[in-house]
Amino acid sequence: MSGKREDYLSWEQYFMSVALLSGQRSKDPNTQVGACIVDPRRRIVAVGYAGFPRGASDDELPWAREGAPLETKYPFVCHAELNAILNRNSADLAGCTLYTTAEPCAMCAGAIYWANIGRVAYAMTEARLLELTGSDAQNPTFALPCRTVFAAGQKDIAVLGPFPDVEDEAAAVHEGYWDAHRPGGVASVPAPHEPPGPAGGDPLL
Ligand SMILES: [Zn+2]
Repeated sequence: MSGKREDYLSWEQYFMSVALLSGQRSKDPNTQVGACIVDPRRRIVAVGYAGFPRGASDDELPWAREGAPLETKYPFVCHAELNAILNRNSADLAGCTLYTTAEPCAMCAGAIYWANIGRVAYAMTEARLLELTGSDAQNPTFALPCRTVFAAGQKDIAVLGPFPDVEDEAAAVHEGYWDAHRPGGVASVPAPHEPPGPAGGDPLL
């Protein structure tokens, strides 16, 4: 009798892969972040990606980054973590883990805090995202680690990340875009986003 497979995905690899896959649902031209929330029994209770709120048309609202405020996407797009929290199918997120492809910004860290999520795992740091976006006027990325936001709160939220074995995959959807779309920037084709597969190298955790 043979034993079980040994090279299967760990739970953490699996849930981060779900977050990466969810990001591929995003229609956002430049920020295809995905997220996934898992309860203490390892059941997925929410997924989300950068996009308009449920019920808002992907075709009628604007995706532009520049122009009059209401002609741009910014008043309408919800970040992946926020969409996951808003569309969860569990009333209670206490003890849950939120997996996200990019480190939560200050806004999403606040939402995670108030939603009582107890643990966060992210693939790519916000600092790396800032390196990719630069000081772009249309996307002024925070330089504020989510650990710093949580440390100012009154409850313990465990933070795991970044994970080098999937960080490159999480960053790939952003690479090239910002240089090409920055005034005076070098036009280049964004790197193709390979479907998530079994993560190689060191395990996530
Ligand atoms: Zn955010």
